[in-house]
Amino acid sequence: MRVGEVRARLDADAVGRDLYRRIEDLYPLCRSITGDGLRRTLRYLAERAPLTLHEVPSGTQVLDWTVPNEWNIRDAYIATAGGQRIVDFQRSNLHVVNYSVPIRGRMTRAELEPHLHSLPAAPDWIPYRTSYYLATWGFCLSHRQRSALAEDEYEVCIDSTLAPGALSYGEGYLPGASADEVLISCHVCHPSLANDNLSGMVVAMTVAALLRDCTRRYSYRFLFIPGTIGSIAWLARNEAGVDRIKHGLVLACLGDSGAFTYKKSRRGDAEVDRVVAHVLQERGARHRLEDFTPYGYDERQFCSPGFNLPVGCFMRTPHGQFPEYHTSADDLSFVSPAALAESLDTVLAIVEALESNQRYLNLSPKGEPQLGKRGLYRSMGGFAQGGVDELALLWVLNLSDGEHSLLDIARRSGRELGAIRRAADLLEASGLLKELAT
Ligand code: ZN
Repeated sequence: MRVGEVRARLDADAVGRDLYRRIEDLYPLCRSITGDGLRRTLRYLAERAPLTLHEVPSGTQVLDWTVPNEWNIRDAYIATAGGQRIVDFQRSNLHVVNYSVPIRGRMTRAELEPHLHSLPAAPDWIPYRTSYYLATWGFCLSHRQRSALAEDEYEVCIDSTLAPGALSYGEGYLPGASADEVLISCHVCHPSLANDNLSGMVVAMTVAALLRDCTRRYSYRFLFIPGTIGSIAWLARNEAGVDRIKHGLVLACLGDSGAFTYKKSRRGDAEVDRVVAHVLQERGARHRLEDFTPYGYDERQFCSPGFNLPVGCFMRTPHGQFPEYHTSADDLSFVSPAALAESLDTVLAIVEALESNQRYLNLSPKGEPQLGKRGLYRSMGGFAQGGVDELALLWVLNLSDGEHSLLDIARRSGRELGAIRRAADLLEASGLLKELAT
């Protein structure tokens, strides 16, 4: 079954509920760029999609970086001298600066102060903070809670470990007719944040699970990696094979209600850039196209000049452009089943378009071939079999000179890529077209 058929059979409501349920399952886990929360997340994904876990030992040199020590955390709190926990990791894993070194003891309010992070402009939200590469510790709390810290002395505990271990990531590979690859990557390192990273993870997981059952022209590679260090580690270990990546998408922030945003690859005119732009336009979806910038998610690494891979980033509202970003307000209420389902369908439409975007050769290029005698031309203005209009047939015949892909033909003719695809299928079945190797 082609991806288009699988896509057509999906029930948007059921798919949306399923994606949302996966986010609910994964939301409580305390993920980071290493550690057991990350491993448990990857195992959960691996039970539902074709992917394998990989471990890169701490201390491994990866490009210009070194894999850090593994971080694990069991508990953390700020308590009153009387033992009452007022900031409690068990209530929200955002309360601890991710990668905090262990600390335990009593300290004064003044000593505690430089280790506190809050958002005065959003006094009820807990900020999300990390310190992966600088050994420090801290607590994040609502500004309201911080303002209420009135005692002179507090009991402070972060029961964490930073020790040699490994960086974990998940990788899935689905072979296709061609060894040329489509890369789909998402970051998996954020703790209890729903849109910024869980939405991308569950959409990527579901795309992988669905593509497993499809016929594939391309091979597909799925990466579930901790941000930055994960893509750098993967690139360092797989440098020899990256030339096979012909198209790529980084998926993030796909569960909010905002319009779609596509950030083009560094190349700017890669096939994936043109395909995504076309799919978004054809759907009539509200969307924005942005040029590449060396900031954002792992496209930064895939598009670094030494690799310059054709990888764009597909999002709804981009990172940093919604107030809830990197705060406790990016929670389960911030994402919706409907938005997730629409994002999944759009990613599948992009995959379908990539799969469809072949080049053909008209085998009867001198004059128009007589379509009527082949049952392809029923009556003026009518439709041939398979719901293909005659103009689509004529456009495909006319532009299949080896120079134009089906996307080129769709754009030039103003007809839907799906209609052009069906016309090419019919013409190929009639012996009038031959597929050209990519
Ligand atoms: Zn983030």
